[in-house]
Amino acid sequence: MARILQVAQLGHPVLRTKASAVCISDLQQQDTQDLIADLFATLKDADGVGIAAPQVYNPLRIMIIASRPNSRYPDAPEMDPVAVINPEDIVLSKETVTGWEGCLSIPGIRGRVLRSEGVSFTYTDAQGKKSSMSLSGFPARIFQHEYDHLEGILFPDRMESMKDLVTEKEYFRILAEESSHE
Ligand code: ZN
Repeated sequence: MARILQVAQLGHPVLRTKASAVCISDLQQQDTQDLIADLFATLKDADGVGIAAPQVYNPLRIMIIASRPNSRYPDAPEMDPVAVINPEDIVLSKETVTGWEGCLSIPGIRGRVLRSEGVSFTYTDAQGKKSSMSLSGFPARIFQHEYDHLEGILFPDRMESMKDLVTEKEYFRILAEESSHE
């Protein structure tokens, strides 16, 4: 039975640690498989779209990407949640786009962050198979946000202006305002 794990909050040094690669021989071990299952459960419980292992005090290069529409990201596309282990060969598109981000480790806060519109990368899946993936739009943003967690980087570090840092309450007001202008 997967467990819901505590999420490290802004200020905890684990969020500023460069995560270590997962040894492929360790991947089939029960504790690693449990960690992956716990990450899925923790993300679902938090109604989030992505999580990285350092956020649950475990600085390993594992992330979950789980784009789907929710109250915070009503326009997010639906995808099957995927575990990405040891992502490498990251190629970012030159085209960039600004969008809102939040973080389970920075509750109640949103910020506008410039990211590449698309990304491709190779990774190992939860069964130990090498694979590759290309993402665009919101799922590409999730990947870049979660990859930053593996490097000890948080989204405010990427912000061009701290004036684009807002509380959740104001974020919903801005979102309603933006959508009424469309
Ligand atoms: Zn985050």
